[in-house]
This record gives sequence, C-alpha cells and structure tokens, in this order.
Amino acid sequence: MNEITILGAYGTKSKGFGTSAFYLDEKNVIDAGNLLSPLEAGCAKIENVYLTHSHLDHICDIAYIIDNYFSYRHTSLNIVGLPQTLNAIQKHFLNNEIWPDFSHIPLDNGETMSVTYQEIECGIEYKIDEISTIEAFATDHTVPSCGYIYKKNGSAILITADTYSLESAIKLIDTREEIRSVVLECSFPCEMEPLAKESKHLTPKLLFEKLQRVKRDDFTLYINHIKPLYLEKIKEEIAQYRGKWEPNILKDKEILTF
Ligand SMILES: [Zn+2]
Ligand SMILES: [Zn+2]
Repeated sequence: MNEITILGAYGTKSKGFGTSAFYLDEKNVIDAGNLLSPLEAGCAKIENVYLTHSHLDHICDIAYIIDNYFSYRHTSLNIVGLPQTLNAIQKHFLNNEIWPDFSHIPLDNGETMSVTYQEIECGIEYKIDEISTIEAFATDHTVPSCGYIYKKNGSAILITADTYSLESAIKLIDTREEIRSVVLECSFPCEMEPLAKESKHLTPKLLFEKLQRVKRDDFTLYINHIKPLYLEKIKEEIAQYRGKWEPNILKDKEILTF
C-alpha cells in the first residue's frame, strides 16, 4: 500500500486546524499551508514543494521553513508550480518586501541558492524517483490553479485542491483506472453558495451534484479544505447530500492509502 500524510486538511488556519499540505515523502510535499508544526526539523529535508496555486493558505509555510531551518539545509528548496503561480510568489511574496528573495541568498555551503523555481506543465508526468511520478492538471479557481495526480508503484491518488468545476478531475478519474483515491475540496456550507461560486469553491450540494457525472465508483473519496468554523454544519450537509458515496472527511495528521 502507498500512503501520504495530511499535514493540513482545512480551508483556513484556526487554532488546532492546519491549511493545505500533503506529505508525499521526506523530500516532497504538495502545498505548504502547514509544514512547520507537524514536520519540525523534518522541514530541513524537504526539497520540492509542488504548489496548486498562489493563495496564502497553500504557500504560507514556505516563508517559515526556510527561515527556521536555513542553516540545516544542504539543498535548495525547489518551488514547483504553474508559471503564473511562481510568478505570483516571486512578485508578491518572496520579493524582498514581504519576505526575503531567497532565490538570491546562497545556502551556508555557498554553492546553491536557498530557493529555486521550477515550472510545471499540465498533462506531463514528472518523475520523482524510480517508483513515483507527479502530474498536474488544470482546475477552476479564482487564480491559475492545478490539481495533482501522484502515482506510485502503479497506483495513484488525485488531489484537486481549490476548484469550482470538477470537469477535469472527472475526466481523469474515468480514464485512469490507476486512480484509487480522490481528494476533493468542500469549503462552505450550502447556504453560502453565492460566496462559494464567487470564490470558486464547493459546498456539499454542489460537490455531490457535480460528482453525479463520474462513471466509476471504485475509488475512495476524501474531502478536505473545509472552513473550520462551519465544520459541523458541513459534515451534516455531506451526510445529507452524499447519495451512494461514503466520503471520508480529512483531518490533520491523517494517513491516506492508495
Ligand atoms: Zn485554499
Ligand atoms: Zn485558493
């Protein structure tokens, strides 16, 4: 069985609730919403952060893992994402105004810069190591965004991250039998549907309406990115709208298998 660990499962930070971060292995994570607290010194070993998009709840701990563990690091922190995502980070975040531009600050070894950037193209499988690959696919959010398919030993997990449409994810789920687990977002309760549409997120009703178009049902469904303030309400509504699905609502530190 392959596994990944949820470092942060929620749609905003709150006491006891971490924002999006998926631990693939000791060198690789998807999103950086919550790395520092769960990984502690393990942060120094992270080499690649695959970003879904530029929103703060997905990037914030990039700032702190470099800062805290600067002298422990031997390799650059490679920030991987869509060109527009990397551009937003360079222009608005690690820009010497909000936080240092670490891509111009060498590590203590004097050879490599603290941060490097690597563009990712949707639809291409990038090799992580001998047994695993990662592939981005376009999603539908208020800024350019992507989800990821992480494949290991021939089976895969699909993570949408923030999205309003599930079209691209559904197409992939139905055509790629190796996808055994799927993580979909659900941010707001049904009564906040106008805000969900405006901010390009899902409610339980929207999520399960859209899921009706999936032909397959032989995968495990997980839900993340719930706003903690509405957790109980959203759980009730998921139970109400789930139909044939038996979704698992993710929590921080949970381990997913695929
Ligand atoms: Zn988010
Ligand atoms: Zn977002």
